[in-house]
Amino acid sequence: MKPILSVKDVKKIYGNGTYALRGVSFDIYEGEFVAIIGSSGSGKSTLLRCINQLIKPTQGSIVFKGTAVEKVNKCELRKIRREIGMIFQHYNLIDRLTVIQNVLHGRLGYMSDFHGIFDLYSKEDRWNAYRILERVGLEKEIHKRADQLSGGQKQRVGIARALAQNPSLMLADEPIASLDPVTSGAVMDYLYRICREDKISAIVSLHQVDFALKYATRIIGIKHGLIVFDGKPKELTDSIIDQIYVQGKDEFAKNELKLQRAIAI
Ligand code: ADP
Repeated sequence: MKPILSVKDVKKIYGNGTYALRGVSFDIYEGEFVAIIGSSGSGKSTLLRCINQLIKPTQGSIVFKGTAVEKVNKCELRKIRREIGMIFQHYNLIDRLTVIQNVLHGRLGYMSDFHGIFDLYSKEDRWNAYRILERVGLEKEIHKRADQLSGGQKQRVGIARALAQNPSLMLADEPIASLDPVTSGAVMDYLYRICREDKISAIVSLHQVDFALKYATRIIGIKHGLIVFDGKPKELTDSIIDQIYVQGKDEFAKNELKLQRAIAI
């Protein structure tokens, strides 16, 4: 089976000289739900943003469905980006727009600039947006302004907008970092279920590592811009957890992870 995404020796050095990624390689296959874990500042967000070229890697190659994304022109990149949904920690919704208008924004990559500027969405797009909002339990909120929603509802709109793109890969950058534990569970349930049902591969960076253990089919641990673990959740040992997390940093997350692992085995 061919990977849907191939990341090879990707490095990112920011303009100020920070080495955020020091040579990261991995393949993602259809249907995988991969959690990226690591201390804050380890490079998780940079990695996700390099995949859809929101950040240009300094070196290395990223191949999505057989196309090297760093080599394509603007028009081809637009086509690739619409197949890669992105979910953000702070939702990135447009506050003054309604829930359904935000979801319809996921269709912009499929429209001409003219149609996009004037919000000329097709009947089919509107109907699909409604059906997607039903799937995340927001069908009663479609005409509410985004700024009137709770954090959990906003993130469900974030998932719906990404889904409206009809993606084959979903990237989620700390999607539950701003939510309380109960809401986080609900949001992760939606994200996980939708990705499974629609056979969308997912790469989700998570600070709450207990959620990584609960949902991920595979966990990648990053430390100082390098992969230090890549395996199944059950292969994570306490000593590997100690290796992934920087000493003195994220002690709470580390202890929580060990505790959850102990409960699971
Ligand atoms: P994480 O998502 O794991 O918290 P990041 O990818 O955000 O990590 O950051 C990795 C490293 O790159 C950190 O040292 C961070 O300070 C640095 N960094 C992130 N964004 C920038 C930027 N725009 N300019 C310079 N350094 C950055």
